[in-house]
Amino acid sequence: MISFYPGPSRTYDEIPNYVKDAHRKGILSMNHRSEEFMALCQKTIKLLKEKLSIPSDYTIFFTSSATECWEIIAQSLISKTSFHYYNGSFGEKWFDYTKRLVPGATGISFEEEKILLIPANKTDSNFICLTQNETSNGTELSPSLLRAIRKNNPASIIAIDATSSMAGVELPIKSADVWFASVQKCFGLPAGLAIMICSPKAIAQMKSVNENTHYNSLLFMDEMMTRWQTPYTPNVLGIYLLMRVLKKVKPIRQVDKKITTRATEWVDFFKESQNLKLYIRNAAVRSRTVFTISGDANLISEIKSKAKDQGLLLGEGYGTLKKNTFRIANFPALKQKEINALKKFLRKFDYKF
Ligand SMILES: *Cc1c(COP(=O)(O)O)cnc(C)c1O
Repeated sequence: MISFYPGPSRTYDEIPNYVKDAHRKGILSMNHRSEEFMALCQKTIKLLKEKLSIPSDYTIFFTSSATECWEIIAQSLISKTSFHYYNGSFGEKWFDYTKRLVPGATGISFEEEKILLIPANKTDSNFICLTQNETSNGTELSPSLLRAIRKNNPASIIAIDATSSMAGVELPIKSADVWFASVQKCFGLPAGLAIMICSPKAIAQMKSVNENTHYNSLLFMDEMMTRWQTPYTPNVLGIYLLMRVLKKVKPIRQVDKKITTRATEWVDFFKESQNLKLYIRNAAVRSRTVFTISGDANLISEIKSKAKDQGLLLGEGYGTLKKNTFRIANFPALKQKEINALKKFLRKFDYKF
């Protein structure tokens, strides 16, 4: 089965071999306080910075999921209020989780087809939370928009959920203070690990909030990370697999080129289709890594089940879009021949109705 699901997604073919290597090298029972682990942790972070073009003065942490990152941000970085701009389910869920810990959190929804507009605030420090790639509907905040938001809000702390885009497209890391993603999407890895990237300004904010009442308080995580360790026994195998995958993948600029080209090809493909349409029409807000495809509910249901019979797993439509849409991941681990196979399969449905 080839998974086009936008998470958990197709993993790299090399993963089983890496797991065998991990077993052979004793990684599976590695002590997380050992010199060997510290070296692995340091090496993985070095590779993350190199391959994803992360500035050297940013600090990288390991967590277990993007959801855990939502919670760490709420408990350890937001002081009284945060402003959550969202146009879909993941951004809204982040706001919902935050509200439980930070009653002053504010949610501002915006339309899927519209470019997000955040009022400029040159003086006050706000805590802004954004979802760079909204996996539920297939929209993205473009790098140029994120640069503009940074420029218009120099005093603010900006935190960005990039779970379904990090390692797939090039992100303007310097334009935000906190970035996070779990690895079961664009990284092409099995679930159970996430990374969180913090700017020096985010680290200063963490110190000023000074929250230290949780096992995953960022203050504690930061203290442990000075020794290349984590507060709890982390997903050591996940970190090892991440290190191996990072060693193999091209620098993010090259990966971005491939993904953006493939995205353009998908857009052209659906422009020619009679029965299947891109759910997001505005190219300026359309995601390059997750596509939502809409059509007649009967056709969509037929396509989903027939695709499965052919070994092609499509992503379900999200929430209210379940019946009329399916989603396709455009993640780096997918091979061109697999994409071609899916296109060939989808073409068959064009003349049916
Ligand atoms: C998948 C996803 C999440 C949730 O990730 P977990 O690792 O399951 O916590 C959060 N945000 C976005 C944008 C996602 O795509």
